[in-house]
Amino acid sequence: MIPKLPKAFSHPMIIGEGSFSSVYRVRQKSLDRWVAVKIINEKNAARRHEVLSEARNQAQMPIACIPSVFDAFQLGQRVFIIMEWVKGATLLSLLEKGIPNKADRAAIGFGIISALAGLHKLGFAHRDLKPANILVTPEAGIYLVDFGFSKKIGESGQSIVGMVKGTPAYMAPEIWQGAGSPDFMKADLFALGKILQELDPAPEWKGISQPLMSLDPNHRPDSAVVLWDRCQSLPISRMTQEGKASVNWISSELLSRRLLQAAKQLLFAKRSEEAYWLLAECLQEDPDAAEAMQLLETFPALSKEKKRRQWVISMATAAGFIVAMLLAFHYGKSSERGKRYVSVSAEENSKILLLPGMKDGKRAVKGAAKFLELATVENSLMGLIFIEGAEQCDKLSLDGRVVRTPAPSGLPTASGEHVLLCNDRFGSLNYREKLTILPFQRKIIRIHDKVSKKEA
Ligand code: ATP
Repeated sequence: MIPKLPKAFSHPMIIGEGSFSSVYRVRQKSLDRWVAVKIINEKNAARRHEVLSEARNQAQMPIACIPSVFDAFQLGQRVFIIMEWVKGATLLSLLEKGIPNKADRAAIGFGIISALAGLHKLGFAHRDLKPANILVTPEAGIYLVDFGFSKKIGESGQSIVGMVKGTPAYMAPEIWQGAGSPDFMKADLFALGKILQELDPAPEWKGISQPLMSLDPNHRPDSAVVLWDRCQSLPISRMTQEGKASVNWISSELLSRRLLQAAKQLLFAKRSEEAYWLLAECLQEDPDAAEAMQLLETFPALSKEKKRRQWVISMATAAGFIVAMLLAFHYGKSSERGKRYVSVSAEENSKILLLPGMKDGKRAVKGAAKFLELATVENSLMGLIFIEGAEQCDKLSLDGRVVRTPAPSGLPTASGEHVLLCNDRFGSLNYREKLTILPFQRKIIRIHDKVSKKEA
């Protein structure tokens, strides 16, 4: 189902569904970037307040293994938490597929220990550590998500009123027994032991995971920081620099499947521009995604249909305008209605984007071939940068390479992040811009505005 989002966001794609919320990857239009938005539907105002304060908790954890929180607000009965989108797969999905490479498993296992050590070092316990809350990026970096229950040690154990904390399969016995005031860091270590055992039951891992799953918390290390220090001397910790291949293809496969699903929903809802971007990205992740290719091939037809509809609307508007003018003439007064019709027909014509090299009405498959060609030549989809005011720069460079004369037809640039620099004739830096290019995007950079502002 397509969620109802605030106007500032578009291109929704579901990335996770928990018991209390749904998480989508969306485009934040103002900043032109992908973000994750967690939407929590909550009737109880006190609980909504609690959720917002927990988002604040996460925002105040300055460590790299936790997605940054950009914003949190409520609209009606829904709370929105806007955060950094982590491009990767949950450990749960990786375990379901199987991680065949031993070095990958080692990289992930030590990544999780290190991430938890970072959290414990700050004085926080996660309290709901499980494979679904661990994200593995293609570079085998680890992120921990879901801080709904996290607590700074020393704070009261009570979290959202009336909720049972944690997930039974990973819950330490002292938590479900509800005895006294448990040590939540030690409870996190119990969950970690279970996770490491699922990740790799091999003997070299048993030495780490078994003591963590000890039923008596006193037999577990005090925190993940202590565990991390102990692990440094183990030979297995030296495997972490090796393979990452299995993580890479599994996360690409999962992402392309989600992109396709989201694009189909958007197409069904007649939001074709958004669907187009997701299909293009789907092919970037998996160039063999036949269904995505087939759907992209329908775009010229959609474009034609849209044009036909616009033509009908323009004709109807023109006819309405003529009738209004005749009536106004007939009654001898100027027609305000006529003016209104004119402005309708002058409305901006929002066209469906076409594949590069694909002309309206041409066989789509040619455009699709071009698309693939671009994808394989650069191993990335291209966009175009149009640079205005470049003559004010003595040296203009993109990603450290000098751009000689910016072509009027645009500078073909691989999708991704780039840095544009403009130096004056004395060599000093006049202008610097970090920009993100999306596949097929046409981005205009106006250098003169910025330079003249600086001079003023
Ligand atoms: P739970 O039932 O575990 O309490 P929840 O409703 O609190 O779930 P989360 O665990 O925070 O929701 O998120 C659900 C899923 O969404 C995660 O398993 C993960 O796959 C995905 N997810 C959450 N945050 C992000 C993020 N920042 N980037 C990418 N994916 C994310």
